[in-house]
Amino acid sequence: MATLEQRVKFAEKHVTEKSGKSWTTKGRPWVLDEFWRPATGFKLWPRESTLLCQRCSDLVGDIVEYQDDGIKCRRNAMQHGKCKGLKAEPIIMTVLCLPRRSGKTFNTASWVLSQLYQEKYKRIAFVASSEDQMLSLFRENYGEVIKRNKALSRASDVRESQGIIRVPSKRSMFEGLSTSHGSVTGRGRTTVIMDECRDLHPRVAMSLIPSIFESHGWECPNGHLHASAGEEVPKNCPACSTKLRQWFGRILLMSSAGILDGSERDWFSELVSYLQANPSPNVHLFQASHRVNPDISSEITNTVEDVFGSLESTKSYVSVEIENRFTRKGENLLTKGEIDACVDNGLKNRIESDKQCVAFLDTSKTKDKTSLVILSYDEERSIDPWSQVVIERVDVWEPQKLPGGVINPKDILEHLDLYIPLFPNLKALRVDTRVMPWAIALVKQIKKSRPWGRIVDGYHGKRAERKASWQLLHQRMLTRTIRIPPHKELRAELLSVRRVEDLDGNLDVRDANRGKRHIDIADALAVCCYLAHLESITQRRSLTSVSGFQAHTLLQKLYRPTTSKIDLDKF
Ligand SMILES: [Zn+2]
Ligand SMILES: [Zn+2]
Repeated sequence: MATLEQRVKFAEKHVTEKSGKSWTTKGRPWVLDEFWRPATGFKLWPRESTLLCQRCSDLVGDIVEYQDDGIKCRRNAMQHGKCKGLKAEPIIMTVLCLPRRSGKTFNTASWVLSQLYQEKYKRIAFVASSEDQMLSLFRENYGEVIKRNKALSRASDVRESQGIIRVPSKRSMFEGLSTSHGSVTGRGRTTVIMDECRDLHPRVAMSLIPSIFESHGWECPNGHLHASAGEEVPKNCPACSTKLRQWFGRILLMSSAGILDGSERDWFSELVSYLQANPSPNVHLFQASHRVNPDISSEITNTVEDVFGSLESTKSYVSVEIENRFTRKGENLLTKGEIDACVDNGLKNRIESDKQCVAFLDTSKTKDKTSLVILSYDEERSIDPWSQVVIERVDVWEPQKLPGGVINPKDILEHLDLYIPLFPNLKALRVDTRVMPWAIALVKQIKKSRPWGRIVDGYHGKRAERKASWQLLHQRMLTRTIRIPPHKELRAELLSVRRVEDLDGNLDVRDANRGKRHIDIADALAVCCYLAHLESITQRRSLTSVSGFQAHTLLQKLYRPTTSKIDLDKF
């Protein structure tokens, strides 16, 4: 096992570009932070998300090199009890959505070579969509790189016409495969890399992933022992007595954006949206726009963007090629039928409720509405916590209808004082503190002087949270796992929401009436769905404690597309 540092040093020393320039990550911090480190790393994740101190909570999602790098902690948790600290979860899948010409192929090759020549028993498969593409890519990024370096050439056996590299002293092997290749499937691989996923058929992609299911086991950090699943292993290496480390098969999925055509070929974009909305301890997702390659001239791209981005016929291609954005024409997020299917005419604003719930207060001053939405776990419909939700209350304050045309924070506090104690199982009330100074003051006052202040906090979600929130609401509406009251304004708002693909290829929303934003209540509802999701994460299970069959079912869960286009059971 080589350390990340050793692998970087190796690539800097041995891997060169055609011009003779040595490989470097200078100017491209993403190569290490978003690719090399996660691709073989572990993600810090709460042992119990409710028992977390502030310090540990700040570290959630950070990537560490080894499984032993988890954090033991006994500090006081933010809620009651002692912090349980963080475990280091293996990152099984790294998903990179990068623009073209980001250097991903060359950086992938450097990453592959740095393992192949330094680590034992690596079986790395690289899949491209066509044989020709694979072979030319292999020649340029692997074959030629090895030829330019004496040490590499001596240590390996390269079959350029087959796309194969063998490093006998390490018993490691690299195979370049194409989807037309008969032996794309196969077992015992330690790493599967899929390049340009937007061109790969989902059936092929899904049939490759199981080839790592059996890939896990234990190994000596000094390279003496390497055991696969099912083999009996000692605690320490028999040769050097070092404690063995668990290893996992890994998947790397890469693509630039493409044109979406509504077919199952959109799977990669769907995967990216899904992961964005459902962060997983076992998946690392990185999406970049066009600024990851310092060698690309922004003057040139800006010009192309300006000119061709203005033409109706070339507009969508520009967003694909330059902005790395999956593109589809603007359309309504939800149809009338889809909304009506979730409306329950029997629902009214509840005065009180002892159900588990979450709430969001969207704040405004003079133009937009201020709204409060309380969403609860719908115990009548499901025993699986938070799988079904129902709106308990919707309250709206319209500044135009208020004295002076301004929201009065005192009214809001009075309202909260009346209702919040009547919802004793409210888990979280978040107040939008991003813009309104009165909202910040309100949260401070509540936290200081109200007995229910401990569940209240400011909310400073950014674009990513907003997108995730809408993705969750959207999913709930489509799967009818939410019940909403026959609230006229809310219904009208939901109807007016347009779906767009954002810069990174995710679902994003905007109002049909641009400039005049009026999806306030729906926005608050979307954030509630996000808060409900955070509540439900508590039950998430860990991949570290399971293996084999269980890992398979877990991976299925973790990669569950938003629609049922891809069925993981069908290979
Ligand atoms: Zn802690
Ligand atoms: Zn050893």
